[in-house]
Amino acid sequence: MPTAEERKRLLRGVIPRARRLGVDDTLRGWSWSAPPLLSPYEVPLGLSEVAGAYCETGRDVYARRVLGIEAEPNEKMLLGGALHGTLRDWVVHAKRSLYACGVGRIEEAVERIRTFPAPELPEAKTLVQYETDAIEFRIREAMSQFPRIGTDALVAQVLPVTLGQMLDGAFLGLSRRLSTDLLNLGEPVVLDIIFDDEKRDFHPLTLAGYALVLEAVYEFPVDVGLTVYANFRDGRLRMEREFTILGDEVRMEFIEARDEKQRMVADAMDPGSCEGCEAWCGR
Ligand code: SF4
Repeated sequence: MPTAEERKRLLRGVIPRARRLGVDDTLRGWSWSAPPLLSPYEVPLGLSEVAGAYCETGRDVYARRVLGIEAEPNEKMLLGGALHGTLRDWVVHAKRSLYACGVGRIEEAVERIRTFPAPELPEAKTLVQYETDAIEFRIREAMSQFPRIGTDALVAQVLPVTLGQMLDGAFLGLSRRLSTDLLNLGEPVVLDIIFDDEKRDFHPLTLAGYALVLEAVYEFPVDVGLTVYANFRDGRLRMEREFTILGDEVRMEFIEARDEKQRMVADAMDPGSCEGCEAWCGR
C-alpha cells in the first residue's frame, strides 16, 4: 500500500503529469479493433509471456508453446507465488475483519487482523508482520482524520487494493484468463508486486499490457502503473515503489513484443537460446 506521501505524489504529481502528456487514441485499449493494437495472429499468449524478458530471446515462450516443454518453476518463481498467495489471503482476512467489526468496534478489528495465522515461510511471516503493523497505523490515522468515517469508506481508505482481478485479454489477442492487481485511488492504477528481484528495463511492459486490457474491457483510461519491489534481507523487508506513466512509448513497446512473440509461435520460428541456458530448453 502506498504511504500517505506517495499517495500525494501520485495524485498531485504523477497522475496530472500523465494527463498532460496524454496518450494517442490509437494506443488506448478501446482502439483494439484497428492497427496497431489489432492482433495479427491467433495466438492467445499470457501477459507475462509477452511482457517478460527474463529469457532474452523469448525461447521460453517458444519452448512452451511450440515444443510443448513446460519448465519447472525455479526457486524465485515458487517464492514469488507463495508470497503473492499469502498477501492475497491476508488482504481478504483484513477486509473481512474490518467489515465484521465495523468502525464501531475498531479495536476488536485490529485484534482480529492480528489473528492471521503466522505462515511457515520466513519471508511470508515478515511480510504479514509488516502489513499488519502498517494497516494498524493507517486505521488509526484514518479514524483520527475522519472520525465519522463509515466502515466501507474506511476499508477503501486503508486497503485500496483489488488483488487478482480477472480480465479477458481476447480484445488484444491475449489469454482470456488474465489476472492483475489494482490500486483503487479514485483513479485505477495497475499494480505489479515483484518479490525478490531487482529493477529490470522490461518491468513497465507488464503495467502497459494490463492498462491496455483494462481499457479494452472497461473503456476507461488507465494512465499510471505502480511496480512494488519487495526484497528480503536479513529477515527484514525492504519495499521500493516505482510509478510509471503509461504513455505512447511503453504501450507501443508492449504491442511490438506481443506481435513479435505471437509471430514466433505462429510460424514456429526458433529464436535461438541465450547464454547460460537450462537443459529443458533443448538447445
Ligand atoms: S534456458 Fe536460456 S534460452 Fe532457454 S528459456 Fe531459459 S534463458 Fe531462454
